[in-house]
Amino acid sequence: MTRTVKDMRIAIIGAGMGGLSCALALAKEGFTQIDVFEYASDLGFVGAGIHFAPNMSRILDRLGVWEEIKKEAVEAEATSIRVGATDDELAKVPLGYVEPTYGYPHMVGHRSSLANGLFNGCKRETAIKFHFSSSAITTSFGACPSLLVTPRDDSPPYTVEADIILAADGIKSKTRVEMLKKLGVTAKVQDTNQAAYRIMIHRDQIEDDPELLALMDGNQVTRWIGEKRHIIAYPISNNTIYNMSTTQPDTNFAAATDATYTTRGSKSAMLGVFHDFCPKIHRLLNLVPDGEVCEWKLRVHEPIPTWTLGSVALVGDACHPTLPHMAQGAAQAIEDAAVLGVVLSRLPDPTPESISRALRVYERIRKGRAEALVGLAAATGRAMHLGEGAAKEERDRQFAALRKRGRGPVPDKWADAEIQAEVYGTDCTKDAHLMFDTLFEQM
Ligand SMILES: Cc1cc2nc3c(=O)[nH]c(=O)nc-3n(C[C@H](O)[C@H](O)[C@H](O)COP(=O)(O)OP(=O)(O)OC[C@H]3O[C@@H](n4cnc5c(N)ncnc54)[C@H](O)[C@@H]3O)c2cc1C
Repeated sequence: MTRTVKDMRIAIIGAGMGGLSCALALAKEGFTQIDVFEYASDLGFVGAGIHFAPNMSRILDRLGVWEEIKKEAVEAEATSIRVGATDDELAKVPLGYVEPTYGYPHMVGHRSSLANGLFNGCKRETAIKFHFSSSAITTSFGACPSLLVTPRDDSPPYTVEADIILAADGIKSKTRVEMLKKLGVTAKVQDTNQAAYRIMIHRDQIEDDPELLALMDGNQVTRWIGEKRHIIAYPISNNTIYNMSTTQPDTNFAAATDATYTTRGSKSAMLGVFHDFCPKIHRLLNLVPDGEVCEWKLRVHEPIPTWTLGSVALVGDACHPTLPHMAQGAAQAIEDAAVLGVVLSRLPDPTPESISRALRVYERIRKGRAEALVGLAAATGRAMHLGEGAAKEERDRQFAALRKRGRGPVPDKWADAEIQAEVYGTDCTKDAHLMFDTLFEQM
């Protein structure tokens, strides 16, 4: 019996935001054999907040999971950028225009809502099969690629053949390393010299503090900035949790191996990093229980020349890890998935040659955009972390102009209306459909 495009065997490595979205996008396109290999034993999602920007929500809606995900999310009505030391407001950018302009509001929510929503969507699809507690690495990139799966129990490793492998295995992607070896390319993981604390304050912890309660009920994203450091914070989970994510110079990981990404931090060290921030911040940081401080190392890697080799493609942080300052890392992984859904469903036939061409179309559509956002995130970090000097004066002049006129360039780039037009206004699914025939022909 001749095999059809929709019967191709698709192996996905990793069940993070990228892997889950790929599986769901492909199932929705009618693919029937989708196997997801995930190292973790289940999807016990780490708690923290995340932005649901319209370019992400639009895709989640098409995948049929947005209604469930947005239930606990909070609409960000504005973002307030403030001086960390004094709490003085540098500028406030209203975000109420986002929904009428882009069709979806700018929301913030719990990462577990996003991950669970995607996972529940996948579980409703009979085409998707999960293999947990399974570490996978691509071992062959040719016409019929294969992966070696090593179960975490004592069962022996086994080989899986597929027609397509999508490696969504995150910043530490083993498939990326193998692919680059095959291509004879070196692209190292880069140290950003930045680290982050991720903190969640619960409503019952602040019931007697009207100022902190106002933050919880305020429906806005607040960024407190200072030299080399900032804190971004917003309410999530129907205003019952105040989520804070910091960025500071990395001192605790300086000697860490490449495999180390998180560590249990010390509360006194955390308070020390923000010692000159305002009392409101101190009260918030003091609410973190001793022994529950978690610090993340923020790494990226050098841009790589290609995301695909033969019938194998990289997805999400495996090919475009980013600093979090544009709040677009997961959104871009989800855009990758949406575009893969289109290009693979448009395949004229299931031959390795066509698959490889379609994957290159995916790369052509996605690489420039995702890498531009990685650059913008790094630039935002630099602008927020300026110390005294001409560059800071110029930045603060822009904030002052914004305060006066109510519009204009925003140095905190995720909130800049022109940048939002590009980021939120691009419908990558639609673009992929429009561009597919021409690009496929060119490959
Ligand atoms: C502090 C911080 C704040 C952030 N805030 C935002 C935000 O507001 N908005 C936003 O869009 N993004 C944000 N991000 C970025 C976002 O979290 C990531 O870009 C996103 O999670 C990447 O998804 P992914 O699926 O590519 O990779 P991951 O989420 O890393 O998933 C990879 C998966 O693959 C599995 N895996 C790894 N290796 C193997 C293997 N060999 N075999 C099998 N499975 C394997 C892992 O267990 C994991 O489940 C933030 C990041 C940080 C650090």
